[in-house]
Amino acid sequence: MNPKLAIHGGTAVRSIPLPPLLRGALVIGGEEKEEVDRVIDSKALFRYYGNDVQHCVERLEHQIAQEANVPYALGVTSGTAALIVALKALGIGYGDKVIVPANTFTATAGAVICANAVPVYADIDESMNLDPHDLERVYDNEVKAIIAVPINGTPCDMDGIMAFAREKGIYVIEDVAQSLGTTYKGRFAGSIGHIGTFSFQMQKTITAGEGGAIITHDAGLFERAVRYHDQGSFREKMRYGFETGEQQAFAGQNYRMSELTGAVLLAQWKKLDPIISVMRHRQQAARRAIEARLPQVRFRKSPDPAGDTGSVLGLFLPDAETAVRFAQAVEAEGVTCFRMYGGRPIYMTPFLLHQRTAEKNNFPFDFPFRHPVAYKPGMCPVAEDLLSRYVHIPISPTLTERDAEDIAEAVVKVYEGLGVDQWTKA
Ligand SMILES: *Cc1c(COP(=O)(O)O)cnc(C)c1O
Repeated sequence: MNPKLAIHGGTAVRSIPLPPLLRGALVIGGEEKEEVDRVIDSKALFRYYGNDVQHCVERLEHQIAQEANVPYALGVTSGTAALIVALKALGIGYGDKVIVPANTFTATAGAVICANAVPVYADIDESMNLDPHDLERVYDNEVKAIIAVPINGTPCDMDGIMAFAREKGIYVIEDVAQSLGTTYKGRFAGSIGHIGTFSFQMQKTITAGEGGAIITHDAGLFERAVRYHDQGSFREKMRYGFETGEQQAFAGQNYRMSELTGAVLLAQWKKLDPIISVMRHRQQAARRAIEARLPQVRFRKSPDPAGDTGSVLGLFLPDAETAVRFAQAVEAEGVTCFRMYGGRPIYMTPFLLHQRTAEKNNFPFDFPFRHPVAYKPGMCPVAEDLLSRYVHIPISPTLTERDAEDIAEAVVKVYEGLGVDQWTKA
């Protein structure tokens, strides 16, 4: 007999809840405090001048560039700021379209709109990331870029995406906000397209509460990014040996990173590899334990499993109703389990679907596009199907081996207890 499920009044697999849904934030400690103390003692909280600047942001940029194997990195205030800076560096704006995956956080599409361009949505595959085979369907000659978003630590099929972009002569931005440290065929996610963006918000792999960064191989794009993020200025031309002047300047924003943020991130950056290593081990252990008992479980796919950070364990159920029941039942066993983004593609968010912006006359959607931009439910059918029946269990860097066993135990117990296979057509 199967043990009685906790949602039916049985004993839960775990009585103590798993750690909260965070990664780097869970391992903040003395190292962060020391770096921040030094900045406070220096009284120089601004990166570009002060009596005794600690150059935390600059050192962070060096670290990022080194690890990602790119010449240029720039710290900014958030992942959203990083996306806007990237779009502006590429010269994208009013009258342009940008391809965004149907499965991403609202910020990806929101940044495109705030950069005065409009998103068009491409479908996903069982990696839960952009499906390169769907790009042609949404492409027209008003599209200037693709934003590839490796969701929750699984890389995108970058070969497919880059080949399409090269063929059309358009740009690729990698929005790696959720997936710092993910690799694809040995290359650091973010370093493969024209510009990569990161977020250091509290949910992400490492954090200073807020923060972001961009990376690129291209000197010209880097200069435009620096100028856009600093009100047109490029104060450290000498550091990079750039010969550039007033002619290159244009109006920009202030998205400069504070030294306090840089200090926290310098300490967090040192923890990135250990965080990923633990997450990978725990995720793989849980997955192997489930597969050993239930070989029929359909896990999320990856175009390069060796490059996954392991930050979630994702699986598919036969239908939406089972997915909702499954997530509730696993939660009742004391293991956190969610559907992503409410189980719907991002374009179903009402303000995105209805093209609501802060601007007059619905700018930038008012542009007289040759191929009008209209959104409707059903436009990315694979994303609608997969998201409705996908659930995932977050994996944190503080999970023990025992916690990973409990995760597997809860999944197997619920899978069998709900009789999931009885709904699965052979
Ligand atoms: C979190 C996130 C962002 C935005 O990052 P912020 O630092 O919160 O602005 C952008 N894209 C994706 C995919 C994200 O998950």
